[in-house]
Amino acid sequence: MNQSPASTEAVPRLARVIPRDGHPISRSKISPEALRVLYRLREAGFEAFLVGGCVRDLMVGLEPKDFDVATDALPEQVKRLFRNCRLVGRRFRLAHVFFGREIIEVATFRASGGPPIADEVDDTEEDIVDPSILDDEDLDADDGYEDDGIARDANGDINGNIDPHYVPQPTGAHPASGGMVSGQGGERLVDESGRILRDNVYGSIDEDVWRRDFTCNALYYNIADFSVWDYCGGFEDVQARRLRLIGDPETRYREDPVRMLRAARFEAKLGFSFDPATAEPVERLRELLGGVPPARLFDETLKLFLTGHGVRSYEVLRAHGLLEMLLPNVADFSRRYPGSPPEQMLLRGLADTDARVRADRPVSPVFLFALFMYGPIGLRIEQAPRRMWHDTSTILDAFDDVARAICQRIAIPRRFMLGVREMFLMQPRLEAPRGRRALRTLEHPRLRAAFDLLQLRADFGMADPAIVEWWGKLQAASPAQRTQMSASAAQEGAGPGEGGDDAAAGGDGDGPRRGRRRRGGRSRRGGRGGSSGA
Ligand code: ATP
Ligand code: MG
Repeated sequence: MNQSPASTEAVPRLARVIPRDGHPISRSKISPEALRVLYRLREAGFEAFLVGGCVRDLMVGLEPKDFDVATDALPEQVKRLFRNCRLVGRRFRLAHVFFGREIIEVATFRASGGPPIADEVDDTEEDIVDPSILDDEDLDADDGYEDDGIARDANGDINGNIDPHYVPQPTGAHPASGGMVSGQGGERLVDESGRILRDNVYGSIDEDVWRRDFTCNALYYNIADFSVWDYCGGFEDVQARRLRLIGDPETRYREDPVRMLRAARFEAKLGFSFDPATAEPVERLRELLGGVPPARLFDETLKLFLTGHGVRSYEVLRAHGLLEMLLPNVADFSRRYPGSPPEQMLLRGLADTDARVRADRPVSPVFLFALFMYGPIGLRIEQAPRRMWHDTSTILDAFDDVARAICQRIAIPRRFMLGVREMFLMQPRLEAPRGRRALRTLEHPRLRAAFDLLQLRADFGMADPAIVEWWGKLQAASPAQRTQMSASAAQEGAGPGEGGDDAAAGGDGDGPRRGRRRRGGRSRRGGRGGSSGA
């Protein structure tokens, strides 16, 4: 505990120090818990900085979703300073300091990297869906619509399986063909493509900075004198709203291809734009995303689409050719049928999700993936003979195919995929309510989500609005009224869905029951309003 106090004199020559009156970051915008951690470290003689997204967000006037602290204290030293502290991380240790629901993450400066990102991903294999093994028994064992069961931290943020701070940056040369590179008392293992597989060295702030991805994410706010330290031009880049990778862009993307998705996310979230050199390699290198562990892509997908800027993320990913790498069948559908009802529905669903996030309401990966899958499933259904479009087995086969394709890229936990499957299976049930079965459907844990999907479909001409209205009434009705409504639906056969059907469907009169004409997943023939693509 006898380190020299962090102060401006201690700044390595290369940093530009922006004094308190030269930047807009006010302590009143920093969480009191983060301030407590910073002050405690400082009082103990350590350097203590806020770093990463929180500094960037404070600079542009956004409310940070979490506050990350960087220090020269070793994890064990941090732990000794805070009662409410736990060390986490399998290889590189981080300290989590708990304050009720809030967690402040404290990371020791790193010399040039950390453990392999791939290795940081929890082994979630047993949780990853293999649609072929889904059976109906699983369907009731699902979680509710509102309770999405995503791991979130105490701030309500989505917690990745990986340690986002644990990302290496090479300052030195990369071996051309992989191997071990040693230095700083530690070793770095890189593969042939230049990806860092292992690195584990503590360092100082002027080393820590280089492992970070974008200049805007590499600003340090010093609690000693409230200055901001900038080693790589991030201060100006934030002011210019520019996303610039630190170091050689190609090398940085090769080390960790997820940085391409992160760049897209920051463009979507912050409205920053790619610096030309940061944009240039993306088209050439985006294929590398195919080698990223699917569990990591799941985390990244949630951050892209469930944190309040999903519509923008969709547009930005498409513009950079990255949607194809993340959700190939969604990108394919969008390319073939731009502006089609299923795509409009997807965008509306994403906009609704963004609004829910803004209103602090819960959002669900189940609904998100149902939106993504709707168009591709519709296309797949149309490959079957038209008379079979209505069959549950057709819907299931289509679902399984599309789910399998998506899960090759994105490890969607099984419980979520089961939820999506239920939403699709419930569509024909909702469209042809029958007697007591309608009453049972009311009790279904997935009803809310399935009904929301039905409603969206109706909004875009892919389901009968009268059915939506009927279900709305049924849900609001008293038990006696419900019995009566379901009984009369049983008598009328197609029940409430009289008329209106053909307007959207283009009049395929082949269904055995009118109300079953458009079943789950059918995309109004891909939304082209015309013939099947089969
Ligand atoms: P937000 O929290 O708004 O999503 P963030 O920038 O804080 O954005 P995190 O994933 O929380 O993103 O990571 C915190 C910091 O860790 C980043 O600002 C960056 O400095 C560093 N970092 C995270 N992931 C990477 C990566 N893949 N490569 C390099 N640095 C990274
Ligand atoms: Mg963050």
